[in-house]
Amino acid sequence: MSNELLQFVLFLVAVSAGWLAGYWYRPRTENKDADASSSYYKGLNYLLSEQPDAAVMTVINELPVNLETLPTHLALGNLMRTKGEVDGAIRIHQNLLSRPSLPRGKLHQVHLELARDYISAGVLDRAERLLKDVVDESEVLRGDALEHLQHIYQSEREWEQAIAVALRRLPPRNWLKKAPAGRGDRRIECALSHFYCEKAQKFLAEHNFKDANTVLQSARQYDRDNVRAYMLSATIALKQHKPELALDLLHTVVDRQAVFSSEVLPLFREAFDSFGGREAYLDALQRIAKMTESSAFFIEAAELMRAKGDANSALQYLLTATRQRPTLGLVSTVLDQPEAGTGPALELVHDIVLKLRAERPSYRCRQCGFSGRKLHWLCPSCEQWGTITPIRGTQGD
Ligand SMILES: [Zn+2]
Repeated sequence: MSNELLQFVLFLVAVSAGWLAGYWYRPRTENKDADASSSYYKGLNYLLSEQPDAAVMTVINELPVNLETLPTHLALGNLMRTKGEVDGAIRIHQNLLSRPSLPRGKLHQVHLELARDYISAGVLDRAERLLKDVVDESEVLRGDALEHLQHIYQSEREWEQAIAVALRRLPPRNWLKKAPAGRGDRRIECALSHFYCEKAQKFLAEHNFKDANTVLQSARQYDRDNVRAYMLSATIALKQHKPELALDLLHTVVDRQAVFSSEVLPLFREAFDSFGGREAYLDALQRIAKMTESSAFFIEAAELMRAKGDANSALQYLLTATRQRPTLGLVSTVLDQPEAGTGPALELVHDIVLKLRAERPSYRCRQCGFSGRKLHWLCPSCEQWGTITPIRGTQGD
């Protein structure tokens, strides 16, 4: 049995058990109850036999709308949405809204469900309107509605609005006595930090460095470990001809998050290029390589030695590094050295190593395990910000 089917069956069992419990322990004098139960099972049967239209008609025409039957309507509507029958879910939820008999609190719940339907259907403007109403009118459901709104603005790349919503979701800050953020709050702060980075990127593209720097300060304030914010600040520093400042920022990244060393290497190179100090660059590379054990830094240092005409030192340096950290990158660089020699056996090994390198993913999500060859700040699989990091170890940097 597939996982999805199993979940579906478990859901049915839970719903039926809940309903039956309510059914058996209630006085069975009203015929209305019997009618409600039969239309509920009829609806479920139609759903199970892949006849969603018939299921919708049964629920709308035969199941009365009142406080007792509301959970059943909602359960069937949500079931339809999770099964991908979004139109059916929308009709069931709209039917509930057309009945004036429900109290306001329950109507807000239906609004929220209908907004979820619209999100699933990709009709985001309608979902947005419903969610804004829920935020304004329901204290109980405000948190859920704001979370959905943040998601909508994020997918529409409306960063200004995404920031406003994320700030509303955070508890008020006490700057004098900073309480440790809860897990949920940490996620919001991390997302917020990336929203500011997105704005910074826009400013950067317009060469508006002043505003870019301002939003990057906010990005670092909400997540002091956000590598992307440091990299963007360093990029701006380089554009403003401030290589020392750029190097400070880049050193912060390698000190705090060595796993991102390979990502900041190109910016290091650029900063030292504007200094013009090759010796200083080689020193810095060797120091950082020793500290972070990053293959990319070992390789860059060896290439610099070779460029200076010191091929033997480059080879010895690479061999020591490879013994210490036998990564595919280092092994293939050793095999690339002319001193490594030639011959069919060596060429074969070289080919295999290159193939292994080309096939391996370079980045993986800590949260869901998604892997790929491109660094995404927002995981395309689990949609969390800042969870994807370069892969470390034999297969990686
Ligand atoms: Zn993920």
